[in-house]
Amino acid sequence: LIAADGVSKSFGLTEVLRHVSLAVAAKDVVCVIGPSGSGKTTLLRCLALLEQPSAGAVTMNGVTIASARDSSEQRRAAREVRPDIGMVFQHFNLWPHMTVLGNVIEAPLRVKGTARSEAIQKAEALLAKVGLSDKRDVYPNRLSGGQQQRVAIARALAMSPKVLLFDEPTSALDPELRQEVLMVMRQLAGEGMTMLVVTHEMGFARQVGTRVVFMDAGEIVEEAAPKTFFTAPSSERAKRFISQLQ
Ligand code: ATP
Repeated sequence: LIAADGVSKSFGLTEVLRHVSLAVAAKDVVCVIGPSGSGKTTLLRCLALLEQPSAGAVTMNGVTIASARDSSEQRRAAREVRPDIGMVFQHFNLWPHMTVLGNVIEAPLRVKGTARSEAIQKAEALLAKVGLSDKRDVYPNRLSGGQQQRVAIARALAMSPKVLLFDEPTSALDPELRQEVLMVMRQLAGEGMTMLVVTHEMGFARQVGTRVVFMDAGEIVEEAAPKTFFTAPSSERAKRFISQLQ
């Protein structure tokens, strides 16, 4: 569905991603894990078209949507698939001046031109799904972090994305609020949503992930089924990482 093909990314002289290749197929739940600063977020931001690769390409169904070279054809392809790529950020990034409902209907109204009544109907269904029907008319600053993140997930789903990218969705939350967000993500995975999740939640990676991608120093060091990765990692770096978790 979406893939990084030999993607490198430098900020100034610092090479943050080195020739990273990763393919996410439909219904995959890929969990990207690794030490702090290993390039996980940068990889996700390249896939989300928020960073431009310095080399290599991001493709969606085989069509290049980002690369170091810009072309009008690529820009057109990117514009076309952008609504198919949903993103959930670490810090929720809700619009503070809009109600919960306003946040969820904004993109369908503005980007897709969905009729208001239809957008509201869909938003209400999504808010029910994430357990927040009663918060429809409140502003984000009245919500807990866990509730804000669930709104952010509903907002991403409102565009009916083909893939959802999560950037450490629970890292900014207190431990007791993490579970409610993880539950929603687990439910989405169970429904067959294609997901790529940068996470420090090893329990989630192990139980919900269909594949674990372990990054270190800007490279994918290992890619495996979660059970294999956590019980019998093949690289020394992964062994060291796992041993430090306990
Ligand atoms: P963490 O788990 O701590 O979030 P990460 O694996 O997601 O880490 P990245 O956030 O991708 O890692 O960062 C990788 C490296 O790239 C870091 O050293 C970071 O300082 C650097 N970096 C990221 N974004 C930029 C930027 N816009 N400009 C300069 N350096 C950046």
